[in-house]
Amino acid sequence: MTAEKISIDTLVVGAGQAGVAMSEHLSKLGVPHLVLERDRIAERWRTGRWDSLVANGPAWHDRFPGLEFDDLEPDAFAPKERVADYFEAYARKFNAPIRTGVEVTSVARHAGRPGFTVETSIGVVEASRVVVATGPFQRPVIPPIAPQTDTLTQIHSADYRNPQQLPEGGVLVVGAGSSGVQIADELQRAGRQVYLSVGPHDRPPRAYRNRDFCWWLGVLGEWDKEAARPGKEHVTIAVSGARGGHTVDFRALAHQGVTLVGLTKTFDDARVTFEADLTTNLARGDENYLSLLDAADAYITRNGLDLPEEPEARRTFADPACVSDPILELDLAAAGVTSIVWATGYAVDYDWLHVNAFDAKGKPQHQRGVSSEPGVYFLGLPWLSRRGSTFIWGVWHDAKHIADHIATQRKYLSYRDASQRETTQPRKEAPASSPAVSRVQHVNELGVN
Ligand SMILES: Cc1cc2nc3c(=O)[nH]c(=O)nc-3n(C[C@H](O)[C@H](O)[C@H](O)COP(=O)(O)OP(=O)(O)OC[C@H]3O[C@@H](n4cnc5c(N)ncnc54)[C@H](O)[C@@H]3O)c2cc1C
Repeated sequence: MTAEKISIDTLVVGAGQAGVAMSEHLSKLGVPHLVLERDRIAERWRTGRWDSLVANGPAWHDRFPGLEFDDLEPDAFAPKERVADYFEAYARKFNAPIRTGVEVTSVARHAGRPGFTVETSIGVVEASRVVVATGPFQRPVIPPIAPQTDTLTQIHSADYRNPQQLPEGGVLVVGAGSSGVQIADELQRAGRQVYLSVGPHDRPPRAYRNRDFCWWLGVLGEWDKEAARPGKEHVTIAVSGARGGHTVDFRALAHQGVTLVGLTKTFDDARVTFEADLTTNLARGDENYLSLLDAADAYITRNGLDLPEEPEARRTFADPACVSDPILELDLAAAGVTSIVWATGYAVDYDWLHVNAFDAKGKPQHQRGVSSEPGVYFLGLPWLSRRGSTFIWGVWHDAKHIADHIATQRKYLSYRDASQRETTQPRKEAPASSPAVSRVQHVNELGVN
C-alpha cells in the first residue's frame, strides 16, 4: 500500500451505527467526508456479541428513520447478524464513502494552521474536522477484584459466544444488566448451575398494556432525558428481546434455577464474598418497574387511550430461598463453579486522540458531541445529548445535530469580505449527492482501500 496523503473536509472514525448515521447526514448536507473503519461496517454487531443475541428493542423501534427491517414483523427482535446487515444496506443506500480495514492510529492538531493530521494504517489523512464514532463500548472492563488464578476460566461478556465455549461446570455471572441477565438465562437453560451477581438496576416491563417499553419510554419522554437522575448514573438497565422478548424478572429467574447473589465484593483464591445488598437491589429494580407501570396507567387515563388493562403485570413471585436467605460467601470449587463471565461493562479508549477534548479525568469534554477542541466531535457516547444517545435510533438524531454544526462552521469559514469577494471567483456549491462518490474515487486513486 502506498502511504499517500489524502485531504478531506471531515473524517469520521468508525463505521458502526454512529459512523453510518454521521455519513448520511454529512452526505445530505454536501459535506465532503470519508469514514474509516478498521474492521467491517457494524463489526461489533457481527463479531463483538454472543451468538444468540437479538436487538433489545423491536424492529419498528431499533432502526434509522430511512429504512425498515422489511423482512421482520414490526414487533420482532432482529438477530444481531440481521442488525449488521441492516447497517451495511443502509450505507449502500446512499453510497456512503466508507473505507473498511483502515485503522486510525493518531489524530493531532496542526500547529499554526487549522485542521488535523490523522495517521492511519495505510497513510496520512489531513482533515479539517474529525468525528470520533468509535463507540461507547470499546474496551471490556474486568474489575481489579478478579481472582488471579488458573483454576477458573474467566471471560468478559464481550468474548462470550455460547454455553459450549465454557468448560463443564457451574458459572458465576457478575453483572446483571441486559448482557449478564441474558447470558445467565442462556447458561441455565443449557443445564449449567448459574450464580448471578445482581447490582443496582432498572428493569422496565418488556411490554405493558399492549405497548413495548420502548414505546412507553418514548411517549413518557424518558428517552429524551438529558441526564441520569442523581445516583442513577451507573445503574444498568436489564431488558431482553430473547425468545420473542420478555420482562426481566430476577425472582422468576431464581425460580427457574439461577442462584441470585448480591454485588461481588472480594475473592480469596476460590472463595468469593458478596455484598448483603441483594434484597435492596431487587427492591429498587421493582420500584423502577412499578413506577413505569404507574406512569403508563396515568398516561393512558390522561389521554383517554383504549388499551387493555393488565393487572397481572403487578403480581410478584414469592422470594426464592436465595433472596430470603442470601449467600454472602461461596467456595467456588466446592460449588462446582469452573468459570466466571464478567458482564461488567466497557470503557472508552482514546489513546490515539491527541487533542484538547478531555477533562482532567480523561473524559470527553463536549456539548451534545461538539467537543472543547474546535473541529473534534464525539458521537455515540452515553448521555451525549440524552438517554437514547447510545442506541440505534438515538444516535441518528445526535449525528444530525453534529452534521448541522459542521455545515454551519463551514459556512462561517467560507465567508469572504467585500475586498476578498472582488478578487476571488464565485464559489460553486457541489451538489449534495456527489461529494461522497467523488471522494471515494479520489481516495481510490490514492491507493486507499
Ligand atoms: C450486548 C449489547 C447489546 C446491544 N443491543 C442494543 C440494541 O438492541 N439496540 C440498541 O439500540 N443498542 C444496543 N446496544 C448499544 C449500541 O447500539 C451498540 O453498542 C452499538 O454497537 C454502538 O454503535 P456505535 O457505532 O456507537 O459503536 P460500535 O458499534 O462500537 O462501532 C464503532 C466502530 O469503530 C471502529 N473503530 C474503533 N476504533 C477505531 C479506529 N481507531 N480506527 C478505525 N475504526 C475504529 C470499530 O471497529 C467499530 O466498528 C447494545 C450494546 C451491547 C454491548
